[in-house]
Amino acid sequence: MNLFKSALIASLLLWPAIAGAWTLPDGSMVAFEAVSKNVYVMHGPKDEPSPKNMGFMNNPSLIVSANGVIIIDPGSTLQVGEQVLTEVKKITDKPVLAVFNTHIHGDHWLGNQAFKQAFPNVKIYGHAKMIEKAKGDEGLTWVDIMDRLTKGLSKGTKVVAPDQTIANGASVKIDGQTFRAHHLSNAHTDTDIMVEHVESKTMFLGDNGFNARMARFEESGDMHGNIKALQFARDLKMTTYVPGHGKSGSADLAVIPFLTYLEKLRDGVTKGYRAEKESYQIKKDIEAQFAQFKKWNGFESNFGRHVNKMYLEVEALEF
Ligand SMILES: [Zn+2]
Repeated sequence: MNLFKSALIASLLLWPAIAGAWTLPDGSMVAFEAVSKNVYVMHGPKDEPSPKNMGFMNNPSLIVSANGVIIIDPGSTLQVGEQVLTEVKKITDKPVLAVFNTHIHGDHWLGNQAFKQAFPNVKIYGHAKMIEKAKGDEGLTWVDIMDRLTKGLSKGTKVVAPDQTIANGASVKIDGQTFRAHHLSNAHTDTDIMVEHVESKTMFLGDNGFNARMARFEESGDMHGNIKALQFARDLKMTTYVPGHGKSGSADLAVIPFLTYLEKLRDGVTKGYRAEKESYQIKKDIEAQFAQFKKWNGFESNFGRHVNKMYLEVEALEF
């Protein structure tokens, strides 16, 4: 193939993504990208929620079925959900049949409202604990967090919790497509489901998976459980893995780096704990082993916290 032809093909391939892009207030553009046949992911910004990104930061995903669309994690606010829906319509004019929410963190599910408004019969699936928390104080707390971080750009956002419970190992058929939920134990939170799309061999990891951005662990989170969840996902040998934040890809690209991070952290902290070192000493001792992660968004602000959390877990396990 000559140079002209390849340049022409490259520009044709790029064109739909640019034409279909959503321009955020900071000028950056995001659009759905095909990651597999009939499976698309919009890889959100890796920064913290702010007015510059409208609070958008996760990876909304869609699966196109024969008669409709299934969405995973529709985004962080009413306004972001509406923009995500606008982008969905650039891929297909089919109606949205169902939405899955991977966990309680509002950046993943407060966009439900936009989808429920546009498609009142849409079914929204989530873990029982996620539904309980979304309907309780935690749902309202996330509405407040988004309002504060976006400086009011999320005004009008309301809690629209999932209305369908899906448990570990359960699968649901939607318009001929099979979705299986995986929740082995507490991991990123106590509300996670990883959503397996059987036909395309795609695993939506939720925030059990991160790529080039660091996780934050809340109280209900369990780093040992997160390791188990990622090992389980890896061993299912999916073709494509979609993390909660950062780029999708093969297990090597989208699962192994964060799994390696957590395993190294577990091993380093366990060794230090057994040598009767304090958490801050362990942090100093092991930090050099994490050079490959220093460029990940949020490494500096989270590494110390991760060591502390792992220390508490190891202490509880070894007691
Ligand atoms: Zn999360």
